[in-house]
Amino acid sequence: MIGLADFKRMWAEDRVSYLDAVNRVGESGWLVLGTEVAKFEEELASFWGLPWSVGVGNGLDALEIAFHCEGMARGDLVLTTPLSAFATTLAILRAGATPVYADVDATGLLDLSSAEAVLSRLGVKPRFIVPVHLYGHAMELEPLRAFGAKHGLTVIEDCAQSIGAKSHGRPVGSASRVCCTSFYPTKNLGALGDAGALLTTSTEIRDRARSLRDYGQSAKYVHDDIGLNSRLDEVQAAILRSVQLPKLREQTSRRQAIAKRYLEEIRTPALEFPPTPPGSESVWHLFPALVRTERERFRAHLHDRGIATGLHYPKLITDQAAMAGVAVPKTGDLARAQRFATSQVSLPLHPFLTDDEVGAVIDACNGYRA
Ligand SMILES: *Cc1c(COP(=O)(O)O)cnc(C)c1O
Repeated sequence: MIGLADFKRMWAEDRVSYLDAVNRVGESGWLVLGTEVAKFEEELASFWGLPWSVGVGNGLDALEIAFHCEGMARGDLVLTTPLSAFATTLAILRAGATPVYADVDATGLLDLSSAEAVLSRLGVKPRFIVPVHLYGHAMELEPLRAFGAKHGLTVIEDCAQSIGAKSHGRPVGSASRVCCTSFYPTKNLGALGDAGALLTTSTEIRDRARSLRDYGQSAKYVHDDIGLNSRLDEVQAAILRSVQLPKLREQTSRRQAIAKRYLEEIRTPALEFPPTPPGSESVWHLFPALVRTERERFRAHLHDRGIATGLHYPKLITDQAAMAGVAVPKTGDLARAQRFATSQVSLPLHPFLTDDEVGAVIDACNGYRA
């Protein structure tokens, strides 16, 4: 089966390096928040092109901590997208705030003109905007920054799917004072388990995030803040910095090459490829396509040829049962997001695919009769 990820190949390719990293931590005698974490934070910030990074337990916590650092609190309204991992909204809810949804544009990412229309319909002004650089695409950053400034919204970008992506040459996350990412194993930079990070231009936010991830301590047994336990452990940091991060550039190029082949060689009227945002140097966390009719029949056709597909995401966040008790302000239809929910499929795209496997995906798509 050609899957959406291949953790067995990943392990086989670097088995010795993973074991070396674990061994180094074991021999150091220091297991949580130590020198591996500090070095990883430095190397990640330098890779990203932002001054500071703070390692945490996962991407959800990174968002929650970033929201606290920017002062999000009970009663705040937060403009965001209904088409994302549920974690984007979950972090808003955990910060005590209320999400407000605007539609996406043709790329599947938050649409600022829809956000503008939502703002004009709302009685109360939101204080935040949380866009997601979905699928590995970079939203345009200057319009985002200007939109935030015009409406008095603090921007906090969810970069969980977009590490390394650039918009007109600038890294994602740079329209915010603090942005967030995840190292969940399926992400472009994956740990061998859970991990995440915040990236920031502010030393104040850096220090507050370091405190919040560790019970809100500013020093041992000094609790200045209501924090959480979201410490990054040394083993994950060691694996991230000495095995995964050094390969990220090359693996991203491989993702880009596969996406290019799909775009050039898949020729079937059954599929439509959403455009990428203008100026986006995408890192192709996922390869989304829209199936014009009968998505399940298309997926079955690929499945019969040994090819897995994913759905990102089959149900809008607004339609999830968990949202039943949340008083989300009504803001008009989410028609384009709904279209993604009902017709999007993700084709396999990961750095361990061989050229033959990529060819097999292309042939299977081209052999489909709608
Ligand atoms: C994966 C993901 C998250 C959450 O990251 P976790 O590490 O799983 O908590 C948040 N937002 C988006 C867009 C994601 O894809």
